Order: sequence, then structure tokens, then C-alpha cells
Amino acid sequence: MSMLKVDHLSVHYGVIQAVKDVSFEVNEGEVVSLIGANGAGKTSILRTISGLVRPSAGAISFLGNEIQKVPAQKIVASGLSQVPEGRHVFSGLSVIENLEMGAFLKKDREENQANLKKVFDRFPRLEERKNQDAATLSGGEQQMLAMGRALMSTPKLLLLDEPSMGLAPIFIQEIFDIIQDIQKQGTTVLLIEQNANMALSISNRGYVLETGSIVLSGTGHELLTSDEVRKAYLGG
Ligand code: ATP
Repeated sequence: MSMLKVDHLSVHYGVIQAVKDVSFEVNEGEVVSLIGANGAGKTSILRTISGLVRPSAGAISFLGNEIQKVPAQKIVASGLSQVPEGRHVFSGLSVIENLEMGAFLKKDREENQANLKKVFDRFPRLEERKNQDAATLSGGEQQMLAMGRALMSTPKLLLLDEPSMGLAPIFIQEIFDIIQDIQKQGTTVLLIEQNANMALSISNRGYVLETGSIVLSGTGHELLTSDEVRKAYLGG
């Protein structure tokens, strides 16, 4: 079943068209990647899905309902959560306070405690540092915190914006392992990445974006082994 359907989406910033007539879908249970170079329009697509940017044309449906005019907080409440590029943890707040911010829409204390336990089970490193100021975490730990915070709202669909950006290789591997684990636990994932190799190797399907348009699509394996993708994104 299609969980997310993006239909002929266009996004403009003034006269600049960042996204041009893009259509794709994400089925329940999949990890789907959007890959592309800097400025290809990846972040614009993600921000439009989560309601932070309004499209100039096209429709987005999530779980069968059109959401392109729905306020961002209602979209989160309906089960779609985004981890932004650059992570944006709240400095001056502890790890646990950052996680609680992710559950601000959920009023049920018991459910929040159960979600917190699940996040700590998945990210033991965060539990060890739960009282530490989030700003003092390493880059990889901040990425885990941002992912944990998004999971506190128990999303059906998790949107990840460049989770590997700026991380050491050992952390990159760990973050991709965690994404696979999140999928196994039943959360669908839409991933945008410049690290095409890692992203496609864990993706059921992927789409390649160039200057705002989708130029190629296929299974993760098909794209990883395609000459075009290898030349453009995987260094030959
Ligand atoms: P990156 O990998 O570098 O983050 P991206 O694929 O996510 O790139 P976007 O951030 O979506 O690309 O940007 C697509 C285009 O839209 C770029 O040309 C960018 O300069 C432009 N753009 C993005 N945000 C704005 C904005 N708020 N105002 C004007 N132009 C913007």
C-alpha cells in the first residue's frame, strides 16, 4: 500500500523553481532514498512534505489524505516526523529534555515513558548521557538524539534529511544500521542523502534527482549497479 504519494509536485522560492513536477511514492514498510547533488531539491521536497514549505503545484497524500495545505503540527500528529538536516538539537537542554520535546504533542504520560524506554533501548549511548547538555554531544550522538526525538512521536513515516552529513565513517555505519533497525521495527523511512552508496545499499527503492527533477528510479540494487548512478554519484 502506498503510504506517501507525491504527485506532480513543484516548489518555487520567488522566481527560482527548486522542484519541478516531481512524482514518487513510498509504500508501507519500505526504506526509500532520494539521492542527488547539492541543490538538487532534496531538502525542499522533504520540507514540503512536512508542511514547512508550501508547493506551487501538485499534491501530497499521506495515508490516503491530502496534506499539502495541512499545518505542519497536524501533519506530525498524523504520524509523519522529520529529522532536519544539521540535526538541530536544543542546546541548554539535556538529552532527556530534548527527547521529551519530541513528545510534546502526546499527552499520555505512560505512553511517553514507554516511548522513552524504546528510544533508550535503541540508543543506549543516549541513556548513558541522558542528563548531559545536548550541545556537548558528539556529532554522531546528536544525530542519534535527533532521530530519537523524532521517534518519540511514534511516527508511521520518518523523514531523514542527510543523516550521515559531517559524521566520521564509524558513525555513518552505525546510523545506517539504526535506520535498518527502525525499518525492521515497522516504521517506514524516506531518506535523502548525498552518500548515495550507503543510502541505496539499505533502500528498497530510490529516486535520483537532478536540478529539481527525477531522472532515474529503481530498486536500491538497480540504482547501485546502474552505470549512470555509478558515474555521477559513486565515483565511477
Ligand atoms: P543540499 O544537498 O545542498 O542540501 P538539496 O538537494 O537539499 O541540496 P535544496 O536545499 O532543496 O537542495 O535546494 C534546491 C534549490 O532551491 C537550490 O538552488 C537552493 O538554492 C534553492 N533554495 C532552497 N531554499 C531556498 C530559499 N529558502 N530561498 C530561495 N532559494 C532556496
